[in-house]
Amino acid sequence: MENLLEKIVVDLGDKIALTGDEVEDRYCVDWSRENPCKPDVVLRPRSTSEVGIILQHCHAAGQPLVTQGGMTGLVGGATPRPKEWVLSMERMKGVCEIDTDSMTMTALAGTPLEELQNAASNAGFMLPLDLGARGSCTIGGNVSTNAGGNQVIQYGMVRALVLGLEAVMADGTIISSKNKLLKNNTGFDLKHLFIGSEGVLGVVTEVVLRLFPAKLSRQSALCGINDFSDVIKLLTQLKRRLQVVSSFEVMWDNYFRYAIEHVEYTRDPFQEKYKYYVLVESEGNDQDQDDRAFQSALFEEIEQGTIDDAVIARSLKDRNDFWAIRDSVGEILAQIKDEANFDIGIPINETESCLNQIEKALKSKFPDLVYMVFGHLGDGNLHIIAATGNKDDKIEIYDTVYQITGEHHGGVAAEHGIGVLKKPWLHLSRTEQEINLMRQLKLALDPKNILNPGRVI
Ligand SMILES: Cc1cc2nc3c(=O)[nH]c(=O)nc-3n(C[C@H](O)[C@H](O)[C@H](O)COP(=O)(O)OP(=O)(O)OC[C@H]3O[C@@H](n4cnc5c(N)ncnc54)[C@H](O)[C@@H]3O)c2cc1C
Repeated sequence: MENLLEKIVVDLGDKIALTGDEVEDRYCVDWSRENPCKPDVVLRPRSTSEVGIILQHCHAAGQPLVTQGGMTGLVGGATPRPKEWVLSMERMKGVCEIDTDSMTMTALAGTPLEELQNAASNAGFMLPLDLGARGSCTIGGNVSTNAGGNQVIQYGMVRALVLGLEAVMADGTIISSKNKLLKNNTGFDLKHLFIGSEGVLGVVTEVVLRLFPAKLSRQSALCGINDFSDVIKLLTQLKRRLQVVSSFEVMWDNYFRYAIEHVEYTRDPFQEKYKYYVLVESEGNDQDQDDRAFQSALFEEIEQGTIDDAVIARSLKDRNDFWAIRDSVGEILAQIKDEANFDIGIPINETESCLNQIEKALKSKFPDLVYMVFGHLGDGNLHIIAATGNKDDKIEIYDTVYQITGEHHGGVAAEHGIGVLKKPWLHLSRTEQEINLMRQLKLALDPKNILNPGRVI
């Protein structure tokens, strides 16, 4: 091991590595807080070619590595395991180019998402990828997990926003595929090997992203609804009536109340309590016209009885207040101990029966369960937080939820991925043949199994 580190230091200088006391706690565990492990070595490359040199050496020596972005992943994918070194992308930050004609942005993989959103906005564009962890998560992590977030309903997941990328294979070979073309059928579209494969097939070092013209108007409302069938009706009706529905986030009363009561900066804008709260947004380019269309669509649904009450944002502060409730999940997770954390996919028409069954099954086993549901219903993706305060109950909670989700034709990971923590349940969502093909791809691209070993498959 020392010999290997010496070789890397000879090539890249001693600032490339942190060892011993220099290795801070933040390299030891991701946001899941599960199974922290202190790595012997943290390597911090500054460029794609440095990543290439590191991987060449590690490949030759058979040294396993785990790649780390912003460490906001929730499935233990970036948490080091014993004997693994860390490959941290924290020094590979910055926007390389904004091409206003192609409407693309090229950025280094370690750049936090929020910096890219701001850079796009300053150039008069919009990068529509947005998630609660925006301040810490990196674009490389977003690409590797094929992140979703708050605007998938209109713009798709990361896969739909990446035009090209540069990645380094396990043996150090650099695959530069920084395509800017919207249409490119010249052979295999190799970027898809690295998008959503959670770092097991290569290290993403640069990303070419699609930008969209900045929208000139945005409408936001928080709706209170008492009947779940009306939540679904509202989604369909708004999609019919509005040109763009850019967000449709639903919070069950258990989540909404918890956020209001336990997170300092949230406030309830309603007098009454409801069973479901929907944060809906639309956007366009004509403020007056778009406001009128949005309001009239909501009033129509109030008259029809679909919505019980609604508050429309009159200012940016109102909008931020609505999102503060939805985004308070980070605060909530920090307050709850030993929670099981889900991001299941459920076909929209099975959502109610699936969730009823899950809640009944969990509460009959664990009567004192802390239980909350919220998420991106417009994308068929919901988050559940369930905690008894006893770590030993988690496996049974996971088993119960995933079995029922599988029976309802859902998926065990709609956006956070599989990592280490969800591996035991992958077979509930993918066939044996699919998992075998994933294994074959891994073997072909990383025969020595040095990149994120033991994740996903
Ligand atoms: C409060 C909160 C809200 C969240 N909301 C959402 C949401 O709405 N939608 C959503 O999809 N996720 C969400 N997440 C999960 C998380 O933010 C995403 O998975 C994010 O994409 C991870 O990015 P990261 O840079 O933090 O990656 P990390 O946590 O550092 O890593 C995640 C995985 O990607 C790999 N990886 C990281 N960088 C690279 C790279 N350059 N090359 C190859 N592999 C790499 C790691 O090895 C690991 O397997 C949320 C998390 C939190 C804490």
